[in-house]
Amino acid sequence: MSRFDTVVVVDWSGGNDRGAAPKKDAIWACVARGGSAAAPVYLRNRQVAEDWLHKVFESELSAGRRVLAAFDFPFGYPEGFAAALTGSADPLLLWDWFEARIEDAPKANNRFDLAGEINRQFEGRGPFWFNGLPRDIDGLPRTKSDYHNPFPDRRQAEMRAKGAFTCWQMAGAGAVGSQIFMGLPVLARLRRAFAGQLAVWPFESLEREIALVEVWPSLTVSASPEGVIKDAHQVEMLARGISALTPELLDEMLSVNAPEEGWILGLGHEARLTSLPDAGPELQPPPLRNDCFALPAGVDWTPVDEALALLQERLRPVVSREAVSLMQAGGRVLADDMSALRANPPHPNTAVDGWGFDGSDLGAGPQRLITVDGRSAAGCPYGGVVPKGSAVRVLTGADLPQGVNTVVLDEDVAAGDREIAFHGPLKRGANTRRAGEDVAQGALALAAGRVLTPADLALAAAVGHGKLPVFAQLRVAVISTGDELVEAGADAGPGQIYDANRPMLLQMAERCGYVGVDMGRVADDRSALRETLNQAARTADVILTSGGASAGDEDHVSALLRESGALQEWRIALKPGRPLALGVWDGVPVFGLPGNPVAALVCALVFARPAMGILSGAGWTAPQGYDLPAAFSKRKKPGRREYLRARVRAGRVEVFASEGSGRISGLSWAEGLVEIGDDAQEIRPGDVVRYIPFGSFGL
Ligand code: AMP
Ligand code: MG
Repeated sequence: MSRFDTVVVVDWSGGNDRGAAPKKDAIWACVARGGSAAAPVYLRNRQVAEDWLHKVFESELSAGRRVLAAFDFPFGYPEGFAAALTGSADPLLLWDWFEARIEDAPKANNRFDLAGEINRQFEGRGPFWFNGLPRDIDGLPRTKSDYHNPFPDRRQAEMRAKGAFTCWQMAGAGAVGSQIFMGLPVLARLRRAFAGQLAVWPFESLEREIALVEVWPSLTVSASPEGVIKDAHQVEMLARGISALTPELLDEMLSVNAPEEGWILGLGHEARLTSLPDAGPELQPPPLRNDCFALPAGVDWTPVDEALALLQERLRPVVSREAVSLMQAGGRVLADDMSALRANPPHPNTAVDGWGFDGSDLGAGPQRLITVDGRSAAGCPYGGVVPKGSAVRVLTGADLPQGVNTVVLDEDVAAGDREIAFHGPLKRGANTRRAGEDVAQGALALAAGRVLTPADLALAAAVGHGKLPVFAQLRVAVISTGDELVEAGADAGPGQIYDANRPMLLQMAERCGYVGVDMGRVADDRSALRETLNQAARTADVILTSGGASAGDEDHVSALLRESGALQEWRIALKPGRPLALGVWDGVPVFGLPGNPVAALVCALVFARPAMGILSGAGWTAPQGYDLPAAFSKRKKPGRREYLRARVRAGRVEVFASEGSGRISGLSWAEGLVEIGDDAQEIRPGDVVRYIPFGSFGL
């Protein structure tokens, strides 16, 4: 019986290390149980992936769970290949054969050389082809021009899987040859490490704790939603799909007979793997997962850019859609691409007041044209045809009458009773506007995700829209925490301070175009805070708290998020700012900002603002900064990013006299921030620094 508790799907990669930030074309993996999946995991190279698989297998075994681990490369080759290399048709001996010969390091490996070596055992013209390296390799052809394959081109499975690549192609878009070379050795080692507990499908009986199976994500999953890396999406969908199968159905899929070549799980059962309800971002989106803020294990002080890349990668729009009238659409986020229903201008018209005529072959020198009765004005076009040699009076914005393609300016004309005179030459089309010269009918006028400006409303109106599809406004709950806080304007006793963060953060949310939801102040009391978080999660899409985000006794925000299993303490290499507590409360993301108003605002602008951009459907935007000369001196150590309160006077960037993070007056004095990079810096007056006006943050 194939009852597996945990499904792991891995999208393998035959290439080299892709670096630390999540990138496409690296290795992606996803763990799912019972139809729901954790966030896809980014594994930058095969060494990291092997290690990760080890740990997952070990922890699942110790938790008593059976694992089905799926990999997206063939487990066997077309008939005859294994025996030709190893003397046995047993594909698992071929795994060991590869394992003994493949050398793999993050930046280099010998896969193309080995392919050439194998080819040389035959006639040196196949079965492998496509050398992806600049240097030539004896026996490995670059193209198929002189290619000869002593084996079948495809496995039985590939003959059924439309669009699958052959195992023989070592490079080029979509090729799988390299993945097999670089994957089988890893699987061979896992097989050895978990000997007696692991079985390989369909070569061995699966009565063990771990099963390795072959999949091909493109069998069932195609496009990924906007902004989601395709491989990450595929492993997630497939992991969900397989883990949602009933044991009976999985059994049916697993019962195949392919003892040498292997098989693709789900081949012939595609519909059963794709019948899951898939909430795309344009439907009511699913809540965020608890682990959506998880940082890679072992990360200590995370550089700002890495933290930002992670946020950008993990978040999704959480808002639903609605249609609003153009008049209500200012500041809202456009939910679909908007194309022109009508051209702008819709008809050829005149750009000036003057006289219109056919200017096709107007010469130089004095010109006389007979005038016709009537005129063409904006909204009151001339209905007749203007004969050649005649002119008609036209006023700015009027449609050009038939027979008119050129206009001469009033000021250049001597007008008599029945005729006009002016000097040529005049270019055909002078002083007129072509239909669609601004926007052609059907052209894309505004892209989805656009935060609609006043000018955008003009454009939308001009091209024929009276209503626009927009995202519902993001609702941002703001909570202040601390026993010491009293409401602005109230009496403050000894030891008490006014709550300054709440009005600031609410106003920031509103300036960004969101709905600020005031959740008030909460004392340093866990159950009160829990109740407020519950309420906020019911009414808002994102929660901003300030204070209580560190790890001390009175830091109840982090404590509660930890209790709920959803805390991620982000130790970001940033000044001002202490650990940022990120978490998900009842499916709603929480940004636990520091209590100090300066740190609270900087962290909100640097992290919460772009994150809310994604949640709101507008997408991620980096704030526009400007390189300007400094009017200050500053020396800083390496290892963290700093933001100073700043403003520009006489073209130079000044900073606030004190860097103290409680100095609210400095925030108010400032008109922006200076961003000082992670490295050591010695800034002297006149040096160029990066200034980011508050306006660039939407304030
Ligand atoms: P905490 O992060 O709670 O330890 O707070 C750090 C500092 O920020 C303390 O001095 C608090 O009194 C101050 N603080 C916290 N919340 C606010 C607030 N809403 N307005 C003004 N100051 C605050
Ligand atoms: Mg506090």
